[in-house]
Amino acid sequence: MCGIAGVYGVQNAERLVAEILFATQHRGQESCGIATRNARGNVIAHKAMGLVKNVLTEDILSYYSGEISIGHVRYPTSASSNIDNAQPFAIDLAEGPHMAVCTNGSIVNYEQLRSYLEKEAGFTFLSDNDSELMGRLIAYYHVVNHIPIEEALPKALGQIHGAYAALLILRDKMFAFRDPYGIRPMVMGHLVGNVREEQLSDGTVFASEGCGFGIIGAREIRKVAPGEILCLQKGEPVRTIAKAPKTPLRHCVFELIYFSRPDSMTFDERVWDVRREIGAALAKKDRDELVGDDLVVIPVPDSSNFVAQGYAEASGLPFGMGLLRNHYVGRTFINPTQRSRDEGVRQKFNPLPDYFPGKRVILVDDSIVRGTSLRKLVRMIKGAGAKEVHVRVGSPPVVSPCYYGIDTPVPEELIANILPVPKIAKYMDADSLKYMDIEDFHEILSNHQDYCFACFNGDYVIKPADFESNPTISTDF
Ligand code: SF4
Repeated sequence: MCGIAGVYGVQNAERLVAEILFATQHRGQESCGIATRNARGNVIAHKAMGLVKNVLTEDILSYYSGEISIGHVRYPTSASSNIDNAQPFAIDLAEGPHMAVCTNGSIVNYEQLRSYLEKEAGFTFLSDNDSELMGRLIAYYHVVNHIPIEEALPKALGQIHGAYAALLILRDKMFAFRDPYGIRPMVMGHLVGNVREEQLSDGTVFASEGCGFGIIGAREIRKVAPGEILCLQKGEPVRTIAKAPKTPLRHCVFELIYFSRPDSMTFDERVWDVRREIGAALAKKDRDELVGDDLVVIPVPDSSNFVAQGYAEASGLPFGMGLLRNHYVGRTFINPTQRSRDEGVRQKFNPLPDYFPGKRVILVDDSIVRGTSLRKLVRMIKGAGAKEVHVRVGSPPVVSPCYYGIDTPVPEELIANILPVPKIAKYMDADSLKYMDIEDFHEILSNHQDYCFACFNGDYVIKPADFESNPTISTDF
């Protein structure tokens, strides 16, 4: 998971991009970057390891100033954690430095496409990340094979299979596009005051989530549709230049469960409201089972706050913030190694002093991937005096890896793939453990058939094995 942002056609677009990236820092904390078309018409990029506030400083933003800008916060998945894999990725065209791209997601047929571009087209890659592959593939069609960009883009994207929400600066234009399944989100907005009946490109903003729009004075207008390619050009309306053939949609349900900020509208759902309903559904499963004055519902903050609130409201049990979170540690799930995740849990959470003795705790978490963090928390809460800890999970058991940009690559690391639920409870020292069922989401989500649940049921719309013996690049120029 990563976050992207883009602003077109206003002075100091880079500052607005930096503000949006800061608001979407929860989507990736490993590295970040920005690419801007400057006053000389060159597209220049800066990226570094670290947080937005530390990387995109006043000096950097002053140097990378311009009217067209895109940016990225990175959470590493398949490619390794280093500066080469930070984004956006700038590519020099024959005529000069006029192109940069950033993307959120994961290209499932990455190996086949890269191999083709290296062997057949003679390209040299400088990183292992998807944005470089995407940029070079687009350049292959547009520059090497001289296809106008509005035809080259759909041709190139037609070769890419996987999840992507992406932004591209090419000379004085910006393009925004999503994969046909709509796996990763991207919304479009407009700076207030620039809104016209017909939406002009100038003043248009894009982001993985709309939670940063209010801060920069933008209003969310709509999603970039799955399979849609939008073109922005100075003084022109925003245009849809192509739409991929209709396919089943597969929005990532984990965006609603964990990734997105509660104040975002993701896939047309209010994230905080979905989480409250998840909590209510969990409470329904416990009706008449967990009763008593000594019970309290506490979240694993912050992503489970609204789930626990929904549980407490539906059950009539008291809600308590029994765990204190240090907000300067970051999200443990998106730390790249187990060691950093373990250290993160210890540094991140602390039980409220004198809160737990004599209490039975319903501990609500959004998901269990490896189980190690929750195990530490259950032990921490019992160590603080709780009589019992009952764990309730706002998602089904994660049993399969994600191929679409989430770091759950090895089935052997997924605790629900290794142990049955009672044994997971025992491993965590929990007095009971209950998960959501996939069917519970059918009642919560208005279009549940449009969602991906593959990490819970193994039903992948595409997977790497589909491409292993089938290099898929089309040479139909
Ligand atoms: S496999 Fe899971 S995490 Fe990956 S896109 Fe599907 S629902 Fe999201």
